[in-house]
Amino acid sequence: MGANEHKRLVVLGAAESGIGAALLGKQQGWDVFVSDGGTIKDKYKQELQAAGIDYEEKMHTEEKILNADCVVKSPGIGDKVAIVKKVRAAGIEVCSEIEFGYRYKNDSKIIAITGSNGKTTTTALTYHLLKDANYDVAMVGNIGYSFARQVAEQPHEWYVIEVSSFQLDDIHSFKPDVAVLLNITPDHLDRYDYKFENYIKAKFRIAENQTEREYFVVNYDDPVIKEHITTHFIQSNTIYFTMSEQNINQEGGFINDDNMNIRFNGEELNMSIHDLTTKGKHNLYNSMAAGISSRIAGIRKEKIRESFSSFKGLEHRLEFVATIRGVDFVNDSKATNVNSVWYALESMTKPTVLILGGQDKGNDYNEILELVKEKVKAIVCMGIDNAPIHAAFEGVVDSIVDTQSAKDAVNAAYALAEKGDAVLLSPACASFDLFTNYEDRGEQFKEAVRNL
Ligand code: ADP
Repeated sequence: MGANEHKRLVVLGAAESGIGAALLGKQQGWDVFVSDGGTIKDKYKQELQAAGIDYEEKMHTEEKILNADCVVKSPGIGDKVAIVKKVRAAGIEVCSEIEFGYRYKNDSKIIAITGSNGKTTTTALTYHLLKDANYDVAMVGNIGYSFARQVAEQPHEWYVIEVSSFQLDDIHSFKPDVAVLLNITPDHLDRYDYKFENYIKAKFRIAENQTEREYFVVNYDDPVIKEHITTHFIQSNTIYFTMSEQNINQEGGFINDDNMNIRFNGEELNMSIHDLTTKGKHNLYNSMAAGISSRIAGIRKEKIRESFSSFKGLEHRLEFVATIRGVDFVNDSKATNVNSVWYALESMTKPTVLILGGQDKGNDYNEILELVKEKVKAIVCMGIDNAPIHAAFEGVVDSIVDTQSAKDAVNAAYALAEKGDAVLLSPACASFDLFTNYEDRGEQFKEAVRNL
């Protein structure tokens, strides 16, 4: 305790990561104060009270914040928020929650996974591979507990952490043993002054503290990564994965003849891609990343191969729902940007009725134009403002229908589909115009399908 006594930790934002940081800070002897500009959920308030942590909601009292030695800022709070500007102007150290957790993790090892798409899937898959090999491992970040909470309440030898760019914005010493960078496509640009460069820089920070003892596992096929990896100073061992065979003489992952191959430490793991339980090209990337990370973590190739076959995919990500009178329904509600829709369409083998729409974050639909022409027979818009979708696809598909609920969208899509077709919910947008979140959107979609 001693070292932190009377040092003041202020946590801005009281959701899972903020509460985790507050609990860890308290445990480590900090004088903790939590401030949330909105309302704090009851379950979190109860936790703060039980731990004896002082807090406020619906306001930020400057006298209680600007006297901090360290401020942990929740990933949801941007730098434009007035109180954050004041904290920075006062020269107070700002940490993200993973940075704060990192300082107390002791000898535990970290596999940290970032990218614009595929983080949750790859994190869950990597966790599954380690867990199945009887490792003492926790999966933290967007799925499950925050890293800081896990460190405070139930430390493990290994952590598989899903890391967003916002979490990387305020790291200082965070150094994963294995860092994974899956892909970089434009997303969240509103938080990066609408400069793609800034977002790219944030993603590469996952490797910035690594040394020659650590590993950086990256997608060799991603044009943005490929271009920028040369301009970033990377000291760790870079290991690539790719769809092509160009890795053939190196360590890393590659695909040939429907086989996934992972080469590391003088051994090669080979398995048929048909034995993987998740489908689609994107999941081959996710699987290679998870497989390489597990090999680095020391798991035997035979065990990895076996565990790959027992992984259950995640809800709301190309999740097969049902076949109704010959029409397949697929729930990809988690596809909140255009790139993930690209991968969803790429994996479709039947003529598709695509349900698109919601809160548009400045989408450029050109990226999916070719795939839409090739595979999509009709579009059902599901959102309050569907104008951008009409603008992008009018004249490209035969019919575009407007709806404003999951039920109407499913009914409209079913009416447009014929036996042998598929209906795909892969919205390319955030869900907040009509739904609480993407899970709610996916649930309502599935419910509507079941009621057909
Ligand atoms: P994240 O946590 O990064 O948002 P998820 O694993 O939740 O990623 O997947 C989000 C969406 O992106 C889903 O629609 C999924 O089908 C798609 N997706 C998954 N992995 C990839 C990938 N490697 N590249 C592109 N899209 C992906």
